[in-house]
Amino acid sequence: MTKIVSRFAPSPTGFLHIGGARTALFSWLLARAAGGEFRLRIEDTDRERSTQEATDAIIDSMKWLGLDHDGEIVFQSTRADRHNEVIDQLIASGHAYYCQCSKEDVDAMREQAMQQGRKPKYDGTCREKGLTSGAVRLKAPLDGATGYEDMVKGFISVENAELDDMILRRSDGTPTYNLAVVVDDHDMGVTHVLRGDDHVNNTPRQILIYKAMGWDVPRFGHVPMILGPDKKKLSKRHGALSVMEYEKMGYLPEAVCNYLARLGWSHGDQELFTMDEMVRLFSTDNLGNSPSVFDLTKFEWVNGQYMQQADPERLTGLCADFLAREVGEEAAAKVARSAIRAAVPLLQPRAKSVVDMVEQLRPFIAEVDDLAYDEAAVQKFLTAETKPLLEEIAARIEAEPAFDEASLEEVHRKFIEEKGIKFKVVAQPIRVAIMGKTQSPGLFETMLALGREQTLARLRRAVSL
Ligand code: GLU
Repeated sequence: MTKIVSRFAPSPTGFLHIGGARTALFSWLLARAAGGEFRLRIEDTDRERSTQEATDAIIDSMKWLGLDHDGEIVFQSTRADRHNEVIDQLIASGHAYYCQCSKEDVDAMREQAMQQGRKPKYDGTCREKGLTSGAVRLKAPLDGATGYEDMVKGFISVENAELDDMILRRSDGTPTYNLAVVVDDHDMGVTHVLRGDDHVNNTPRQILIYKAMGWDVPRFGHVPMILGPDKKKLSKRHGALSVMEYEKMGYLPEAVCNYLARLGWSHGDQELFTMDEMVRLFSTDNLGNSPSVFDLTKFEWVNGQYMQQADPERLTGLCADFLAREVGEEAAAKVARSAIRAAVPLLQPRAKSVVDMVEQLRPFIAEVDDLAYDEAAVQKFLTAETKPLLEEIAARIEAEPAFDEASLEEVHRKFIEEKGIKFKVVAQPIRVAIMGKTQSPGLFETMLALGREQTLARLRRAVSL
């Protein structure tokens, strides 16, 4: 069996958006599932529209997603000599010819084909002229059909009478896109081409080039577009953002991969897959042939699931990084790692993203004097009646040698018993005192995450408000 080699071949004319990332992921999964190779090629031949920034962003995004590639990255722009060499071989073998037809000539030829009841096709008069300059065209077959078994769409066949004698090299000497893709895929040993179905019309043309060169034709698969909830092309508003924008919003890369995989691939009705599981289960047989609809709410849900499962130590690091981005390295370094570490497990069940977690983390890591209070909650719960109670609770916690869940429970139980009050009389005032607001994880676990010193300091500061 020959080794499976797949690839991702983005044009660096913009950032890697999630549609492209999904194509990359499928292609990566295809290779990894088969123990094959996954190659990366940057199709930077359009010098005007390609940018270094976009190239860097694509590479960074792939890294972040964990889509590692084998071998060196191939930059298409460095391969023009090789592309021209192949074109020259095609001319020499009679599979391509120079053509000097103007655009008007081509249009007239198409018109004529139509009048003769043929497909609107250009199969130039220059074919037999033996010219030695001009654009170079492929001498495409006039009859028969070019078909292939698409890994996603099933058998696709196009009559050759519909395929123009396509240009391989423009008269300015530059090779065309279809030619470059074929030569590069061949030279990189690509056996499986998985790409967006905006390329489906290129495929029969590319197959003709493979055949003219006598090369093995790879397998092709074309994945349908991702649509917005309005069933139209996915717009920015509906989530067509770059991969790194999701990173900035605090999504975890494995959640992004999981969600993207499910947009077009399925394994029963399972929703959550680790990367290893996807590698184990992936097969192009389970790629859907109808466009999938992007659902931001579901994406958030998937991310929340991964937040819950993530290693707390990793989230601690991520929260620290996000804080540093926000307030700068120096200010972030002042926040004790231990304070973040203590709070993270409490926030995991409720944080939708790292950004959300950092937001919920703030009261845990604030200096006593910097704790932000919800004014309405302060008015309502830190009153002349509750403040003395808080004062006393602080004193009792301080007097208790242990500081753990059991001792805190005991201190509070005794306290309310002696006072003859319900726990809820003090619960919200304590919460507002230590967190500045009325929502927080469980009271005792919150106190434990804060530590004895912070808990006491906050209770006492609340009394003095
Ligand atoms: N560079 C092309 C694109 O970004 C992809 C070509 C291919 O996958 O064959 O659309």
